[in-house]
Amino acid sequence: MRLPVKLALLLAATTAFPLVLATAYTVPQGREAMRNQLDQIYAQDARALAAEVHRTLVDKLDALTLAASTVSLGDLDPEARLQALLLIYKETRGADVVGLFDANSDQVGGAIHFSRLQGELATEHEPVDDVGLTAYANKVPLAGALQAGRAIGPVYVLPDAQGRPIPRLVLAVTVMAPRSAKWVLAVEISLRGLAESFERFRPGERGAAFLIDGEGKVILHSERDLVFRQASMKDHPLVKGIQNEDLLGANATVPLLGWKAVVQEPADEALRPLRQLQRESLIWLLLGLLVAVLLGFTAVRTVTAPIGRLREAALAVTGGALETHVESHSHDELGELAEAFNTMVRGLREREGLKLTLSLSETLELAEVLERLLDSLGRAVRFDEAAVLIKTRQGMDVIVSRGPRGMEEARRIIPSAAHVDKATRTLQPALSEGRQMLALPLIQRGQVIGVVCLESMRPYSDSEARLAFSLTQPAAMAVENARLFEQVQKLATLDGLTGTYNRRHFMDLARMAFESARRFGQPLSAVMLDVDHFKSINDRYGHAVGDQVLRALADRCRAALRSIDVLGRYGGEEFAIVLPGTTRHAASVMLADRIRQRIAESPIATDAGPVPVTVSVGVAGMEDGTLDPGELFKRADAALYEAKQGGRNRVVEDRGELVQKPVA
Ligand code: GH3
Ligand code: MG
Ligand code: MG
Repeated sequence: MRLPVKLALLLAATTAFPLVLATAYTVPQGREAMRNQLDQIYAQDARALAAEVHRTLVDKLDALTLAASTVSLGDLDPEARLQALLLIYKETRGADVVGLFDANSDQVGGAIHFSRLQGELATEHEPVDDVGLTAYANKVPLAGALQAGRAIGPVYVLPDAQGRPIPRLVLAVTVMAPRSAKWVLAVEISLRGLAESFERFRPGERGAAFLIDGEGKVILHSERDLVFRQASMKDHPLVKGIQNEDLLGANATVPLLGWKAVVQEPADEALRPLRQLQRESLIWLLLGLLVAVLLGFTAVRTVTAPIGRLREAALAVTGGALETHVESHSHDELGELAEAFNTMVRGLREREGLKLTLSLSETLELAEVLERLLDSLGRAVRFDEAAVLIKTRQGMDVIVSRGPRGMEEARRIIPSAAHVDKATRTLQPALSEGRQMLALPLIQRGQVIGVVCLESMRPYSDSEARLAFSLTQPAAMAVENARLFEQVQKLATLDGLTGTYNRRHFMDLARMAFESARRFGQPLSAVMLDVDHFKSINDRYGHAVGDQVLRALADRCRAALRSIDVLGRYGGEEFAIVLPGTTRHAASVMLADRIRQRIAESPIATDAGPVPVTVSVGVAGMEDGTLDPGELFKRADAALYEAKQGGRNRVVEDRGELVQKPVA
């Protein structure tokens, strides 16, 4: 997983965690609080309904009792009694049938009722048909009333004209009958008003209220069937007062009667606002999460984007692009990191330049300087072809070249190329049309002293050109030094490698010695010394070791010479000696052969270990006819040639005489 994703998720999780925690804690709490509140409301409603039931029945019963006690029905004749009953019928609001029963439950006189009612009466009473009358007669709580003075009969249900179930019951109070007997005044009332009240009462859309009697049988209910059947609701959880997941509600007992008013509402409906709240909080939670992730991502980007840039830059540097630079404008840790990175790369660049300078300063050979320049350039900048031009008196000349094109072709094409010309004029790196050829001027003291030309199949970028240019500059000084050295070399007297006289100066000294000997009639000898198979030493151990061997040989020669003898480096691995006041024989036997032996006896210690070396020597002496030192050395050289021919590691005099056979 990439760093930005990882960090953004982490940040989002950190932000969202408290949010989730808070929601997880508050939602159930809210649910509990809401349930409690609802329970209280339901309980209140149930109590109100129970109170209404109580009021309806008990008020009527009280009114009836009052009426019965004020009118002594037993003392009235049947006609007056009927009038009194009618009065009671009217006074007892809601009474449908009023009648008198004796202790044997026989009806005393006719009952007051109407099979049709109109006008004001119709709003307070209900008409009763024969079925209703029969039911009424059967439901009079005679025993109860006789015993307690008043009683409420059992509920029975009859359909009204519209087929609606109307619960009814009979209220009964005792009245005094003639001869101390007791009659019962029985008044039937319908619970239509209560039924309407219960129906009107609707908690929520699907909630309802119902009424059951003391045994749990339905009195009022929104479902007609249950009312008709007077179904038992004993096991209803709200009746039992048990907490329920599906239904919320409460019950309240109607005082004296023992009935129960129950209010109920489906839990899903009652708790819908809570659900809504839950859903909303979930949406907000998700939204919050999304915002947290987005914010996290943006926040993280501000950190990872610079890191990404640093990573790219580090990869580029690893690939050799030392000109890489990271832009940073912030002053925080990331800015410091970028600054540190740039410093580090600058250090690398400087080290690379220093390495080049050091490697270039190791040699003073111009061609060698340029070869080494191309070597180190190749480590930082790619090229398939390369050539270095150096300014000479005649103009620009290719000194070294690399690649399949070859020196001749390079000489022909490159000096006249347009981009080379441009680099020379502008003192800046110049690219060819297709950017595949790059010319880098070598500048010394404001002057172009040469041009490095690189070519690649892939076009060069500006930054590559800049890097290459910066890397070639240390070479300018080295090229200048090498050129100067070559000039100085010509004028110097000593050979730089061996510290012996160089050939030019040696010949000057030899001439002086020759003339002096001639003038004073003194003998003079010349010795030529050449290393045997020196080429193979170079080939086997390298030129550096070859150089060491030459230095050691010069030392060994010098050790054997007197102060008046003159030693010079005559050629590459050829040494010449002038021995004033020494005859040829003495020179060959006393000196030349001693030197040869010393060299042959002990191998020369070098970096590559001991290297066995032998030399061949030719000796010539000045004679009366000898014209000049040149002739003398020519003869010595001829003798040397003979020594080589004779098998090397030996001394030969110019007479053709072998001085001594080699030891081995
Ligand atoms: P021979 O015994 O016949 O002379 O064999 P040789 O290998 O010495 O033959 P040759 O004279 O052709 O080789 C001389 C070699 O010496 C060739 C040249 O590369 C090498 N040489 C000349 N000057 C220097 C020098 O300054 N340093 C080193 N390392 N080698 C040099
Ligand atoms: Mg030689
Ligand atoms: Mg040799």
